[in-house]
Amino acid sequence: MKDTNKHQGLRNQLAKQLEEKGITDKNVLEAIKRIPRHLFLDSGFEDFAYQDKAFPIAAGQTISQPFTVAFQTQLLQVKKDDKILEIGTGSGYQTAVLVALGAKVYSVERQNELFKITSALLPKMGIRPKHLSFGDGYKGLPNYAPFDSIIVTAGAPIIPKPLMAQLKIGGRLVIPLGEGEQIMTMLIRKNETQFEKHEFGEFRFVPLLEDKN
Ligand code: SAH
Repeated sequence: MKDTNKHQGLRNQLAKQLEEKGITDKNVLEAIKRIPRHLFLDSGFEDFAYQDKAFPIAAGQTISQPFTVAFQTQLLQVKKDDKILEIGTGSGYQTAVLVALGAKVYSVERQNELFKITSALLPKMGIRPKHLSFGDGYKGLPNYAPFDSIIVTAGAPIIPKPLMAQLKIGGRLVIPLGEGEQIMTMLIRKNETQFEKHEFGEFRFVPLLEDKN
């Protein structure tokens, strides 16, 4: 696993592009500069890893586009030691960005193949989420709840109720909602029963599927 000056240069350029596209959170941009995205892709994609594009990973899934990762992460307003639930571990790249921001990350993946690959990869890179889990993210992780924030990285037809229940008061749930195209949606939990809803632009994700595979 090699990370060279050339890769660092490409990451700096990518962060600059993301800033031009509207990412303002300096900590998020720093995390993008630090995480070697090329190591999360098959070697065949190494030359493209720092383009602002999604790419295929194992099990017919995709690694999210860097802008999408930065946009969702920025919405979470991550503070050090925040306890964050991620649904859709996938390649682990988004997980790594959250860990770089000092978060305690709990992540769930429904594809066993990806769960195994990513569980082996992250520690090899010295990246330590609190907990990686193989299961159905529609259920969240009740045993570890509540969370300061929750990020869903697959397109969801509905907001799963268990995720709302597992959010702390004041916490943020960021979820792309819709089939085909998704509207980036953020819920802020106001109290036991009320959530404030904010909508952002359109994005395109692989679907959030029920049960595990
Ligand atoms: N954060 C990932 C995005 C991967 S794409 C990355 O940066 O690489 C979305 C992921 O969500 C896929 O790996 C898919 O298998 C997973 N997924 C889909 N439905 C799920 C569910 N119900 N529970 C957990 N993971 C799910």
